[in-house]
Amino acid sequence: MTNKFIAQIEPWIGEEEQQEVLEVLKSGWITEADKTKEFETMIGRHVNSKYVSVVTNGTVSLTIALLAVGIKKEDEVIVPDFSMVASPNSVLLAGGKPVFVDVDKETLCINISEIEKKITPRTKAIMPVSLNGRSSDMHALIALAKRHNLFVIEDAAQAFGSTFQGQHLGTFGDIGSFSFSTPKVITTGQGGALVTSNKDFYDHILRLKDFGRIDRSSQDHDEIGYNFKFTDILAAIGVAQMKKLDFRIKRKKEMYRLYKEHLKEVSVVEFISTNLDDVSPWFIDIMVPDPVILQKHLKNNNIGSRLFYPAIHTIKPYLGHEKFPNSLWVSQHGLWLPSSSFLTDSDIIHICTNIKEFYEKK
Ligand SMILES: *Cc1c(COP(=O)(O)O)cnc(C)c1O
Repeated sequence: MTNKFIAQIEPWIGEEEQQEVLEVLKSGWITEADKTKEFETMIGRHVNSKYVSVVTNGTVSLTIALLAVGIKKEDEVIVPDFSMVASPNSVLLAGGKPVFVDVDKETLCINISEIEKKITPRTKAIMPVSLNGRSSDMHALIALAKRHNLFVIEDAAQAFGSTFQGQHLGTFGDIGSFSFSTPKVITTGQGGALVTSNKDFYDHILRLKDFGRIDRSSQDHDEIGYNFKFTDILAAIGVAQMKKLDFRIKRKKEMYRLYKEHLKEVSVVEFISTNLDDVSPWFIDIMVPDPVILQKHLKNNNIGSRLFYPAIHTIKPYLGHEKFPNSLWVSQHGLWLPSSSFLTDSDIIHICTNIKEFYEKK
């Protein structure tokens, strides 16, 4: 067993990525062009979505999705109180107002039965977040949105490779959004993707990411747009990473099973019930009484981990008086364990042994 520091997550880039990037560089054309199309086609095939557009990052892709369905100033968008902060931030960036709803402890995702209470005449959309590849009952969520005439923008940044009842997450709502930032299951360094089956939304996305130009060859604009385009250098990395995705999805599931198996005697360590037919856990998540102390112990043993995100309503820009008990509980008990797809079985057993030792000593 090496005593090398095991990071909580590291990107995994090989020679295939180098080759792909080199070819793009040699072509002399590095902006968004053919390689980007190839990457988009691969994404579309993988998630089974008709239209795909890749953009600068996953925060921007959520923002564009909101703008594409017409979110305007003062429009309210329902967001779970437990998520990566980019979810509500993207609503603000689009000019809307995030309205928070508590999550389920069983899924870490938005509690559907709490949504209706938050709907007002100003509500325009719901942004469910598929945290760590899990989701709420997507059919129930879509039905609720339909009843209230709301758009659904899926933040599926952590769900690339995960499904709900066999259908890829990100493809239930009006528009789905993925991220290819460094820790995600595949990465292009920075990157995001929008998926939709609606041609009008797709066309709108293409205009919004390209200065609002009516089309690529035009200098005419019907509306304000920005520059959120991709580059073929990033797409080259993406194409090489896509070829590794099936292996990674399989491996993440195996890793989850292995962690669970080797921690089953530790009664205080709880796993969230996870259907591995659908869910490819991006991060290995456990719930423990004392994540901060366990994290310290692991760090002393050269093992990285990451505390869960804070509940959104507890961070300064979103401080409020409303209570979100599940979100708060989850944020105070969760820990992400080392989850890089290249970890070996013996790395994982080593990590589990350290966790066992910590709780035996206590
Ligand atoms: C990573 C992530 C984002 C943001 O994506 P970036 O590409 O880092 O901007 C948004 N939402 C969730 C849930 C994420 O995990």
